[in-house]
Amino acid sequence: MARLKPLNFFYNTCATHTITLGTLNFSALLTYSMNKIILHIDMDAFFASVEQSANPALKGKPMAVIGTGKRTVVTTSSYEARKYGVTTGMTVADAKKCCPKIIFRTGDHLKYTYTSAKINKIFLKYTPYVEMYSVDESFLDITFCHQNGIIQTAKSIKKDIYMQTGLTCSIGMSHNKLLAKLVSDINKPNGLFYLKKQNVPEFLEKLPVNKLCGIGRKTTEYLLSLGIKTCGELGRFSVKELKKHFGVNGEKLSLMGQGEDSSPIVPIGAEEDAKSIGHSSTFDNDVFDQAILERYLFKLCDMVSRRMRRNKSWGDVISVTVRYMDFTTLTRQIKLKDIIQHTHSIFYYAKYILDEKCALSYPVRLLGVSISGLRKNDYQEDLFNNIEKRNRLFNAIDSVSEIFGNDSTNWGILLDRPLKTSTVISPSWRPHGVRSY
Ligand SMILES: [Mg+2]
Repeated sequence: MARLKPLNFFYNTCATHTITLGTLNFSALLTYSMNKIILHIDMDAFFASVEQSANPALKGKPMAVIGTGKRTVVTTSSYEARKYGVTTGMTVADAKKCCPKIIFRTGDHLKYTYTSAKINKIFLKYTPYVEMYSVDESFLDITFCHQNGIIQTAKSIKKDIYMQTGLTCSIGMSHNKLLAKLVSDINKPNGLFYLKKQNVPEFLEKLPVNKLCGIGRKTTEYLLSLGIKTCGELGRFSVKELKKHFGVNGEKLSLMGQGEDSSPIVPIGAEEDAKSIGHSSTFDNDVFDQAILERYLFKLCDMVSRRMRRNKSWGDVISVTVRYMDFTTLTRQIKLKDIIQHTHSIFYYAKYILDEKCALSYPVRLLGVSISGLRKNDYQEDLFNNIEKRNRLFNAIDSVSEIFGNDSTNWGILLDRPLKTSTVISPSWRPHGVRSY
């Protein structure tokens, strides 16, 4: 495998590469921005493939990864199950109807995050410009790291991933992120497709607009009402008109139709900080009992607090979301004078919101807690007097959890009847610590 050192004219984030600053003239910079080589690497049926790779008995069989509750749905299904029509989001009962032989496995997010971090470590051997788009998708800029050829480099990455994890991926390549992502789906699974600049207009001409990442169902319908079905039509449509209908996004849509995208690769560690941290839980059975709801609320506050402690974040806006059995959903929030972080402080205010601002008139299907107004701080909140003792307690909990997992410690309030909470990975999950490999 090639170990290539990229030029680093704006290299600033990756700790694994030590490179001396070279000189790069203006024309080289211009050439770079016009002729980037961006890879979009999408793991094939990631969660299901990780399970199959970990357990040979599942290999080649129709199987699906699901959550923990009674109302859980299919998170990812193996390609063998997809042949029977099993899709993501399908209920367990429906998946069984499509494929009676299907095997279900409960998602193990630790296994997936571990594998994802391992894969990202492979990427960083090729280029420091790695953007983790989601737990199973990344963008790589290999403009200066493909001395052995573009296709050859992509093949080498695929081979390394397969050798180290037993997993396959599909790679789309082009000169920007929009197009790389667009073509990574072609020939999936284990696909490889390079969309060269000169072929872009022809490729986009008849392509439906909803194939572009960022154009969802509503925008597609709106565009259709303007007579725009394909990317070709979108690219030729009057920008002025588009702006009239879509505001500032009009221009972006026009560029997307032409296959243009100037968004940069955001390397691991340089992502914008999260705007909010939250958890929610859908109950197996609707809950109307106040005491049970409070216990769930406490559990959610603890999960939120753990993540805030890990991110060293503090926040001052607390929101509680309640979804009733009929799916009506309400979110109530309060803004505090001080920033908070710890489990009991979050619970204190979340309970206030639940008691005072959410009229609980029907059984509850889902409960959620989130904190926004986040900032990084070493601030010491003063809700309780014994700060030092409590900080030592949280440090101890966090150290134990780091080694033995989140459920290794629990609060007394939750002990007599442990609550089940889902362990769905948020799309914004990042492997903290990748940079230090
Ligand atoms: Mg995928």
